[in-house]
Amino acid sequence: MKLYNKSELMPLLESFGFNFSKSLGQNFLIDKNILDKIINNSNINKNTNVLEIGPGAGTLTYELCKCAKKVVSVEIDNALIPILEHNLSKFSNFTLINNDIMKIDLKKLIEDNFGSEKFIVAANLPYYITTPIIMNIFEGSFNVESMILMIQKEVADRIYADPGTKDYGALTVGVGFYASPEIICQAPPHCFTPQPKISSVVIKLNVYENSPYHVNNKEMFFKTVKSVFSQRRKTLVNSLSGSPFINCDKRDIEKALSNMGLDIKIRGEKLDIEQLAALSNYLFKN
Ligand code: SAM
Repeated sequence: MKLYNKSELMPLLESFGFNFSKSLGQNFLIDKNILDKIINNSNINKNTNVLEIGPGAGTLTYELCKCAKKVVSVEIDNALIPILEHNLSKFSNFTLINNDIMKIDLKKLIEDNFGSEKFIVAANLPYYITTPIIMNIFEGSFNVESMILMIQKEVADRIYADPGTKDYGALTVGVGFYASPEIICQAPPHCFTPQPKISSVVIKLNVYENSPYHVNNKEMFFKTVKSVFSQRRKTLVNSLSGSPFINCDKRDIEKALSNMGLDIKIRGEKLDIEQLAALSNYLFKN
């Protein structure tokens, strides 16, 4: 089955009376080269468990099922269920779940399907849930090895940004705290049907077993990060002392900055993840 061939995919979708939904971010992959890059870079083998988000017609799912031990795909659109059942019928290692990935109990889903075994996440993500789903998976502390994801280029730029640049922000730090990101390839609009207005990128997030950034208190670290980037035009001292998320005395922040050898007029967006971690450790001892 060559679902990446538009001439095979479209008649099949039509035979099921399927109509694409814009609001569900339905842009199906029709580029074999990109598909191969996703599979080849995901290091899948017969021992790998895969959680796929948004299988669509099953183009990526089909290739995942050929290589992996087990593939569990979560699809929200009822109209795609009979199509997926038809397209993936020959695979006994495939489980389809008709649900919303943002509402499902992720912990239970993972325990029920993978037990305590490691798994990877593979997805051509619907754009409207890209950031929350990535962060939900990280924050769940699951046994996830890596995530190979098709995302908007603009989000990839924010994940991969350097401190002090306009793209650097809470997402860069949030992802970088948990994983080392790797750009796999670009995917221009013509790689999908229907064509989206924007370009996409395949990115791999290699999840750390233990984050290289030591923080005394993860919750306070992330609140510090949120405070810094929600008021990024202010100096670090002003954004933290005026933050509604944390309670910090101006003098303690200035003391922490001078202990770290940083100018007290510095803006928070100049600090890399290590410096943000050190700062939150100064401010929140436990
Ligand atoms: N994986 C397919 C491919 O590459 O051709 C389809 C990718 S398409 C960009 C996104 C898919 O995610 C669609 O099938 C859409 O119905 C599904 N989807 C959208 N929102 C979802 C949600 N909240 N939970 C699960 N699936 C969702």
